[in-house]
Amino acid sequence: MIAGIGYDCHRFADGRRLVLGGVTIPYEQGLEGHSDADVLTHAVIDALLGAAGLGDIGQHFPDTDERYRDADSLELLRHTLTLLERAGQRVVHVDATVLLERPKLAGLRDQIAATLAPVLGLDPAHVSVKATRGEGMGFVGRQEGAAALAIATIESR
Ligand code: MG
Repeated sequence: MIAGIGYDCHRFADGRRLVLGGVTIPYEQGLEGHSDADVLTHAVIDALLGAAGLGDIGQHFPDTDERYRDADSLELLRHTLTLLERAGQRVVHVDATVLLERPKLAGLRDQIAATLAPVLGLDPAHVSVKATRGEGMGFVGRQEGAAALAIATIESR
């Protein structure tokens, strides 16, 4: 089994949806980005690509490419799974942490895991979604943006 790490961050902006792990979360602001700016899914994609030695998200889905404007990041994740399948790999486990001050994700973690799991080909028990605040420090604490960390474990099929 091989593990890969992923990290991403996006800035909060008015007039945007807040999408985390494919789930639209009611909040006064969303995240800014070329795609839907789903920071969690982007970190998971990078972790998967890293584990498989397939480069990074910017290489596969460049933010200069009009095809990916307002893209549904779950679609990008689906495509990533296809790349892993072609490389003879399957996903075993994903563990992720979202770093954001607000809103609270406590009640949404199961829904996010249940949304990501089928795309990853996993039982929700093998998709761990956690959240932590910035305690007022740094860009997370000042609510300028959100970040996410992910570790994906994969194995040969
Ligand atoms: Mg991103």
